[in-house]
Amino acid sequence: MSGSPRDYRLRCCGCGALFDDDGVRLDCAHPHPPALLRSEYAQTRYAPSGGPSVTRYRSWLPLGQPIATDAATAVYRSEGLGAHLGLRNLWIAFNGWWPERGATLRTATFKELEAIAVFGRLAPDEGRTLVVASAGNTAAAFAQIATASALPIVIVIPLEAWEPLASLVHVGPSVRIVAVEDGTYDDAIALAKRLAALDGYVAEGGVRNVARRDGMGTIVLAAVDAIGTLPDVYVQAVGSAAGALAAHEAALRLIADGNFGSRVPRLLLSQNAPFTPIHDAWSRRAATLGERSAADVRERQSRIGATVLGNPAPPYSAPGGIREALAEAGGRTYAVTNDEMARSMLQFAELEGIDVEPAAGVAIAALAQAARDGNVGRDETILLNVTGGGRARRPVVTARQRPPLVVDRAEIAATEGLAERV
Ligand SMILES: [Zn+2]
Repeated sequence: MSGSPRDYRLRCCGCGALFDDDGVRLDCAHPHPPALLRSEYAQTRYAPSGGPSVTRYRSWLPLGQPIATDAATAVYRSEGLGAHLGLRNLWIAFNGWWPERGATLRTATFKELEAIAVFGRLAPDEGRTLVVASAGNTAAAFAQIATASALPIVIVIPLEAWEPLASLVHVGPSVRIVAVEDGTYDDAIALAKRLAALDGYVAEGGVRNVARRDGMGTIVLAAVDAIGTLPDVYVQAVGSAAGALAAHEAALRLIADGNFGSRVPRLLLSQNAPFTPIHDAWSRRAATLGERSAADVRERQSRIGATVLGNPAPPYSAPGGIREALAEAGGRTYAVTNDEMARSMLQFAELEGIDVEPAAGVAIAALAQAARDGNVGRDETILLNVTGGGRARRPVVTARQRPPLVVDRAEIAATEGLAERV
């Protein structure tokens, strides 16, 4: 690695070791059970600068190179939904496409904030190609940002994820899509792992990549800009839990600044029943996620409407993970059925005037439960993260019928010749 020195270092949440960043480090170098890394910025004061896009928060983004984007989250005070739920101080962080409000995420979810930060984190002379696996929104977000900035990436998806992706994004020549025929998200992960181990490639890393979390942490920074203070409560639906960890970590940075109080927002997190591993574990205050058979996991995943929340292995018990964050933040978790989710999506469209993604519906339904049960106060400052919305307003791109490279499921195990084909 060379280039300009970075103004942050990486701290292992397990053993406390500090590392210079090479742009792609995902784990601690010391031998111990898995632990998340967290970025520590030289700039401890909150210092946003410049226009409304996410680059306004660059002093708290782990950047190795500048990245140009106009992507922005919109934060506004709710009138319709807030009144409906009896909440006087409900703020909505809208991540999606709603330019009239100031939300300009072209693939209509908060995943774009992750993609921007992940590419920005790379060293300017990084010669390897990132490999990312996704079943949906992440693939669209990375394809969008890579195309806009002509950055190379390999994105591995189940074939069924191709159409939704190609209807959102004009996939540019720097993006190589590899689709697994009859494949699941797990198959895509397995293939991505093998590809990333080949010469010339490197794993993007998901929730372990600090850039993903710090990119999404800008949602809380945008909220503080709009509200003027940290919220009392933070509401989001979680799969990998990266967004909730991001919010928690951003709040810790704001508290360290000294001008935003000393209390982290209570985390109010929700999952889509019957697939609720974090909720199940946290409700029992369990030390680890419960064990389930692969067949049971698949069966439950297949029954949730918010498929993006179907992550079977979120960082729960690892140091820096979601159990720790829930404990520090006095957190509470909720399970939301598909019916509740669908009702909340309709309700939001009626009350706030825009379509939202199913995962956002899961968050809205959990907030309604919490308001009903008195777990949020009517005068508390509440930040609802609408993680995706406005897709109905996006122009539909005419999809190619097949992605350029389709791999048979059976080929995933065979290493021969894979590198040449990709
Ligand atoms: Zn360590």
